[in-house]
Amino acid sequence: MLKKDLDLVIIGGGIIGLATANDILKRNSNLKIIVIEKSSSVASQQSGHNSGVIHSGIYYKPGSFKAQFCVEGRASMTEFCENNEIPVWTCGKLIVATKESDLPKIDNLFKRGTENNVEGLKVLSSDESKEIEPHVKSLKSLYAPKTGIVNYVKVTEVYADHFKDKGGQILLDTDVIGSQSVNNKIIVKTNKGEIETKKVINCAGLHSDRIANLFGLKANLKIIPFRGEYYTLKKAKEYLVKGLIYPVPNPDLPFLGVHFTNTMKGYVEAGPNAVLATKREGYRKRDISIKDALETFTYGGFWKLLKNDWKTGLWEINRSLRKSVFVNSLRELIPEINSNDLQSGGSGVRAQAVASNGDLIDDFKIETSENSIHVLNAPSPGATASLVIGKYIGNLASKEFGF
Ligand SMILES: Cc1cc2nc3c(=O)[nH]c(=O)nc-3n(C[C@H](O)[C@H](O)[C@H](O)COP(=O)(O)OP(=O)(O)OC[C@H]3O[C@@H](n4cnc5c(N)ncnc54)[C@H](O)[C@@H]3O)c2cc1C
Repeated sequence: MLKKDLDLVIIGGGIIGLATANDILKRNSNLKIIVIEKSSSVASQQSGHNSGVIHSGIYYKPGSFKAQFCVEGRASMTEFCENNEIPVWTCGKLIVATKESDLPKIDNLFKRGTENNVEGLKVLSSDESKEIEPHVKSLKSLYAPKTGIVNYVKVTEVYADHFKDKGGQILLDTDVIGSQSVNNKIIVKTNKGEIETKKVINCAGLHSDRIANLFGLKANLKIIPFRGEYYTLKKAKEYLVKGLIYPVPNPDLPFLGVHFTNTMKGYVEAGPNAVLATKREGYRKRDISIKDALETFTYGGFWKLLKNDWKTGLWEINRSLRKSVFVNSLRELIPEINSNDLQSGGSGVRAQAVASNGDLIDDFKIETSENSIHVLNAPSPGATASLVIGKYIGNLASKEFGF
């Protein structure tokens, strides 16, 4: 046996698994906790392939987990970075109304953000918007001065260091492939051998539904992967974007629309779109996994989603295949941009939970079953809110596991 007599195994060395590991070990330093990660480093999936925005909490339905966790999460993430020498910049964000039909939506977002207690929100005229972002074209905009940027790989690495400093252990290159219950203990089966533990927390992101199944939770959902592709602005054109410039989002979708993001990685990104991926970790258009694709295409919930939203799906595929269409979306925000100003950038894959009735699950979703807790949906702003989500799961573990 690889390890035995553990109190807790956390599956997934992403930002949420490690925030949770720290929270629980901080409450009770005597617990023997191991984080298992199948890749060779932490933050290898969503936590290392995102926009790096510290969101302020405007968009989310008041009372939802997203609204509660994001507002508190922004403050705690910014403070954490400042205290741990992680470069962070509160650059502010502009949500831009580019057409008449966006105007009432800006007012609704202002109302929603105010209800969510987002600090400092302001509706700006076209001229006032230009004082913040001189190259933007807007009828008016919503300004969120507390929105910031950070590199979440660095944040996750610091979470990992804190966890190890407190005595926690991270097993890299270790893939969870099965489980068995024996005498009130759980045997976690991995590619490297068996691990015996009392409790398990599943923070496996793109594979969280599969891990939940392995541990006997019948969740009424499936993870459908949506790739988000980015372009980067050429150096000579970076002056066009000061901070963060977003469109008014479609309120029926959990994605925010392609936007401009200044990053702490030293370049400006444009994107991401949201295209169905045929592999859960399919970062390139050509990446296909027969197993993953079959799981998506044989899932009734996927076809129900497609029936309701096929037009958006086709539009996203068109925008992914044709740079000119992508550029047109960006020009609505900054008319000066043209195709030559952009070069291909990276991508990320979102773990989007879809219910069996075809609904895209918008809010964070965390469920418990015997001896285990499962994070089944942790979309954006999951990185922003990671410390608060970790605390929430820590409280749940105290209650359910007696930790
Ligand atoms: C394109 C994109 C842009 C985003 N932009 C933002 C943003 O600007 N701001 C923000 O707040 N949020 C953003 N998000 C959301 C944010 O990145 C996620 O909410 C967050 O990273 C989720 O963290 P996680 O730990 O749950 O998942 P992950 O980071 O995916 O971690 C899960 C881990 O589990 C491991 N794992 C899976 N299966 C197994 C197994 N069988 N055995 C062992 N290990 C396993 C994986 O290798 C992985 O490392 C964005 C997401 C994407 C995809």
